[in-house]
Amino acid sequence: MRGRRPGPLDEGSIGSGKRVLYRASSSVQATYPAGAKPITPSPVIPHRIPRPEHNISRANISENALKVLYRLKGAGYQAYLVGGGVRDLLLGREPKDFDVATDALPEEVRRVFRNCRLIGRRFRLAHVRFGREIIEVATFRAQHAGDEGGRVLEDGMIMRDNVYGSLEEDALRRDFTVNALYYDITDFSVLDFAGGMADIAEGRLRLIGDPETRYREDPVRMLRAVRFAAKLGFNIDPASEAPLPVMGHLLQGVPAARLFEEVLKLFHAGTALAAFERLRHHGLFAQLFPASEAALAREQFDFPLTFVARGLENTDRRIAEAKPVNPAFLFAVLLWEPVRLRAAELMADEPPVAATQQAATEVLARQQGVVAIPRRFTLPMREIWTLQHRFEFRQGKRPLRLLTHPRFRAAYDFLVLRAEAGEADPELARWWTEFQENDPEARTRIAAAVPKQRRRRPRRRRRARPEAGAEG
Ligand code: ATP
Ligand code: MG
Repeated sequence: MRGRRPGPLDEGSIGSGKRVLYRASSSVQATYPAGAKPITPSPVIPHRIPRPEHNISRANISENALKVLYRLKGAGYQAYLVGGGVRDLLLGREPKDFDVATDALPEEVRRVFRNCRLIGRRFRLAHVRFGREIIEVATFRAQHAGDEGGRVLEDGMIMRDNVYGSLEEDALRRDFTVNALYYDITDFSVLDFAGGMADIAEGRLRLIGDPETRYREDPVRMLRAVRFAAKLGFNIDPASEAPLPVMGHLLQGVPAARLFEEVLKLFHAGTALAAFERLRHHGLFAQLFPASEAALAREQFDFPLTFVARGLENTDRRIAEAKPVNPAFLFAVLLWEPVRLRAAELMADEPPVAATQQAATEVLARQQGVVAIPRRFTLPMREIWTLQHRFEFRQGKRPLRLLTHPRFRAAYDFLVLRAEAGEADPELARWWTEFQENDPEARTRIAAAVPKQRRRRPRRRRRARPEAGAEG
């Protein structure tokens, strides 16, 4: 994947089928939440795109988000829809969620809504809950200068940024221009502080401000660039793209738990394959999965790349079909090649299952230093990996027993993937497909028809090695 994937804009439209043109902008007054004072003067005058000139219709905004906007407005506060919701509506896509920005302080938001909880230590946010839908309401924040409330480390990374600010400060501290568009409930217009409308029309992701500074402040923005580019089919603006391979190493300074969340967002958004290809293209995959990248770079028969690509394609297909996806399976796919290679080395002295367990321990230990995969996922990952060896034993009661293993289905899908990529025996995968698709009676017959298996190869090899003394 080089260049641009077809996105909704390739039809030459912004949802409504018309290109958005700016009308002469009307200025917006800077207002500050109580107690907040301006850190930088606000020279930015936004473009106001009136309702007839954009395609956002209230019919496409969640009723609950509208309720929040109207209620805040009724209580005398400013309230805008902002972020991915506005961006996706302008693109004619269905937003994942709706975020609201306001000049009301979190405590004030809580006073307006009974169904509201304040969350977050890094920055306080209000969550207004309507059944299963949560509308996130954030008070305008400023990109602080390193004093009051916020702290900029020596290398430029921001540690805390809960400094309240004006509407324009809130716009300019956001990451991409297309994420800094505000839908104004008072007159249904869109406010554009950073040229986001033009970038939406061009299918372009552009950081607000100086790209290197913005990546240094928060290196996760590099992953967000790739995520949005993959999801929206956008190009990354050259100035925002150039620092990626040079600054990717800054991801090592990001907490491993946050990187886990970002990796999930990258690969569970329905465009995992595009994200993977872009991550590799920009040298960021190596920062997140160093052992996997090393294994892929060493490939000889194209197998590992095909395997990961097919695994991600599978994930994308399941999401398109609204089927559940499991992080354990995803990470098992991404880390299989280093596990397989290491296990193959260890198999000189150990039986396959023990070798695979040991390899899994080593690979996971190193991986956790960068991307923290929670235990509730690493346990099933290990099972998926070690079960691969148990598929080889198809005699007697063993296959029936394997069928009842809680991880059978995932491990079987994994086996099929390996076979499709040319690593596992396609005949073996076919056998298991037939076996599990049949009724219990037929299964017994199928298992009985398996010719007597000779001893496992690794055992024979072990016996041939006089120095190998370990018990298996
Ligand atoms: P998605 O469709 O994935 O929800 P989104 O753009 O809404 O995309 P969120 O993570 O929900 O992304 O964040 C909401 C908004 O907050 C963004 O659109 C952006 O304006 C701002 N934002 C989020 N993360 C950052 C960041 N790391 N740096 C600057 N601004 C950010
Ligand atoms: Mg969002």
